Amino acid sequence: MAFTAEFRCIAGCAGGYALEQVIYRCPRCGDLLEVVHDVAALRERSAEAWKALFAERWRSVDEPWGSGVWGKHEWVAPQLEARHVVSMLEGGTHLTPVPRLARALGLGDVRVKQCGTSHSGSFKDLGMTVLVSQVAQMIARGTQLRAIACASTGDTSAALAAYAAAAGIRAVVILPRGKISTAQLVQPLAAGALVLAIDTDFDGCMRIVQDLADREGVYLANSMNSLRLEGQKTVAIEIAQQRHWRVPDWVVIPGGNLGNVSALGAGFEMLLALGLVDRRPRICVAQAEHASPLYASYKANWAPLAPQKARPTLASAIQIGNPVSFAKAVRALRAFDGVVEIATEAELADASARADLDGLFTCPHTGVALAALTKLAARGEVRREHDVVVVSTASGLKFADFKVGYHEARLPAVPAPAHRNAPIDLPDRYDAVRDAMLRALD
Ligand SMILES: *Cc1c(COP(=O)(O)O)cnc(C)c1O
Ligand SMILES: [Zn+2]
Repeated sequence: MAFTAEFRCIAGCAGGYALEQVIYRCPRCGDLLEVVHDVAALRERSAEAWKALFAERWRSVDEPWGSGVWGKHEWVAPQLEARHVVSMLEGGTHLTPVPRLARALGLGDVRVKQCGTSHSGSFKDLGMTVLVSQVAQMIARGTQLRAIACASTGDTSAALAAYAAAAGIRAVVILPRGKISTAQLVQPLAAGALVLAIDTDFDGCMRIVQDLADREGVYLANSMNSLRLEGQKTVAIEIAQQRHWRVPDWVVIPGGNLGNVSALGAGFEMLLALGLVDRRPRICVAQAEHASPLYASYKANWAPLAPQKARPTLASAIQIGNPVSFAKAVRALRAFDGVVEIATEAELADASARADLDGLFTCPHTGVALAALTKLAARGEVRREHDVVVVSTASGLKFADFKVGYHEARLPAVPAPAHRNAPIDLPDRYDAVRDAMLRALD
């Protein structure tokens, strides 16, 4: 069976464009493009047959089909040939229960979708495997491209650098100087990417990379390029699959450039359209208070985007004041009876630390989502009878300074960490160690 997909304008202009084409915006109106699948062709296979196929591929040793993204190949990039796939076995991540956190919030079934348990340590791998594979196929078929480039708050560049290196394609990374974690800066350097650190913020980097893509023959890898959202969409499909095709009541997800929530919405829409699930979850986008243009729009009844100058936040990957995928995100939130919440620096840090007490090691962005859930639970909007999934976007291991700073009470923005756990320094004497231990375990 021939499955196909093409780019189309999200504003509804006529015309479709091949995924092989170097195109990021609608040539008629300048709006974003999205990947539209031939759903009628996909529907010729029954929902039960799709479920069986996805179950057979789930974490299989058969590469690349064991990848969470490529296991959904027909729904993601059906015309991409398997021999051009550049995969690091991304996806297939755990849906981890957090019962102690749930109890503390007065909730029932709360799980964390561990998208940061991935090759480069963030969910960005899910989209990058699709984008880099598509470029590899384009190059193999004769398209001339100098490199793949992105602006990044850290995780996009880490993913791009890794996948481009795996494919043998040059990567150019444009970062806001001094605004990302050390681990995130080292990742693209280690992978041999050309790293340009610019004296600006993320939004400034975004403007520069768009001009480079327009004028200098580099392929744009930011989430404005909707190929990435096709890979990220599989998070919704995995959540449903891991819950035996029962949709949760709520999904809470941190948002910056707002590509990920758009992808989440698209994934659930596809599941509905193809009959694998029978309803929509509600979606909450969580933003850092210091970078919350979507929240401002939501509070003003989905008013048009008023770009902000994002202020520094511990959740550095979402320090974005002018989100590229704003329109797609609002569309998704309207369809999913969505809400938007914000978290202060102390709220996100404490929420992150509290979730770690269930054995996680959450990043600050996941902390933003968990803080939002805390607020929704306190207001009674999310209740005990609701099944909740919180999307964790990166590994806390990439944010060691944040973790260490919290437990050493050295973060200026979090003067009184509520869940601080500091080591107890002791002399080399059995009785002193025993007494300290028994006192602490009491
Ligand atoms: C990119 C990123 C986000 C935000 O995703 P958007 O698609 O920009 O909204 C959240 N958390 C982490 C760790 C990220 O890297
Ligand atoms: Zn258009």
